Amino acid sequence: MPHRVTLIPGDGIGPELAAAARRVLDASGVDFDWEVQDAGEGVMAQYGTPLPEHVLESIRRNRLALKGPITTPVGKGFRSVNVTLRQALGLYANLRPARSMQGVRTRFEDIDLVIVRENTEDLYAGIEHMVGRDAAESIKIITRYASERIARYAFDYAVANGRRKVTAVHKANIMKLSDGLFLESCRAVAAEYEGRVEFDDRIVDNMCMQLVQKPELYDVLVLPNLYGDIVSDLCAGLVGGLGVAPGANIGTEAAVFEAVHGSAPKYAGLDKANPTALILSGVLMLRHIGEQDAAERVETALRGVVAEGTHVTYDLGGDAGTRAFADAIIERLGAAPAVAS
Ligand code: NAD
Repeated sequence: MPHRVTLIPGDGIGPELAAAARRVLDASGVDFDWEVQDAGEGVMAQYGTPLPEHVLESIRRNRLALKGPITTPVGKGFRSVNVTLRQALGLYANLRPARSMQGVRTRFEDIDLVIVRENTEDLYAGIEHMVGRDAAESIKIITRYASERIARYAFDYAVANGRRKVTAVHKANIMKLSDGLFLESCRAVAAEYEGRVEFDDRIVDNMCMQLVQKPELYDVLVLPNLYGDIVSDLCAGLVGGLGVAPGANIGTEAAVFEAVHGSAPKYAGLDKANPTALILSGVLMLRHIGEQDAAERVETALRGVVAEGTHVTYDLGGDAGTRAFADAIIERLGAAPAVAS
């Protein structure tokens, strides 16, 4: 049976990256049946919404999606499709691994961090209003249910992937009730894993400083939504930036895999953007569906091309286009022996 996946090309550089990722994943030997669905700016005129109901239905039906970035206008227009998707599908866990790649020039080597971000509440609940004309209020929602659920996800991930420690990140010294509840929930869940996975916690500002000074002290980080958004970009920076940072949004009913970066409109259609982050998101998808061998082979081929450095995009110091980069990965995959699973 092929794996049926909803493929959302997205806006800006999305379609060319989605095409590259699709070709590489197909070359892994895993049988995919791609259901291409358009969402984003491009469908607004036709459907009056960037996220038509039939796109959501497709993801619900297939339970899997690979998604290109979608443009969100700042301060006006429609609500972020990404936030809506996460809420509509209950994609409560945002997983963002940050691992150094040989051949990507950064200030650090051997970074291997995993960010687990709560994806459904906090200031992203979207409860905002004006208070009179000259003040605005955004409401931060933190619940015990969602905090324990994300903490459990982080610990289960640590156990399943042989990771040694989970660090909860918060600002409970100032937001004693909301972040206090998040920390209390993480501590309660940590007690269930005592002896198997270590646990500690850090205040978010201190965490940022430590990540750029002593990243090797950390392993899996679990954070509420807003800090998770910010700290995961910081971690992406540690390993070479947005072009190489993959992500997954995971829920009980569906999972959506997408790069951390946005639609980079200025590079749209130029065959210039780096497909690494979306391909690595595809690797996360392969692992999610139990195709461990294919995941390993795609990641090894990708890392090989990046380490060699001759067929990489501008942001990695090369002059290859998106397509040529993908071709080089596919060529290496062809050379790598397939292991029967
Ligand atoms: P961006 O990530 O699109 O681009 C910032 C810069 O990073 C680009 O100008 C480019 O220099 C570089 N970059 C990003 N991806 C790259 C790639 N694959 N290869 C090479 N270089 C790359 O961030 P932005 O400009 O702040 O956002 C543009 C739009 O994307 C906005 O509308 C934003 O809301 C949206 N966005 C969408 C998502 C998503 O769909 N998941 C995530 C973030 C931003």
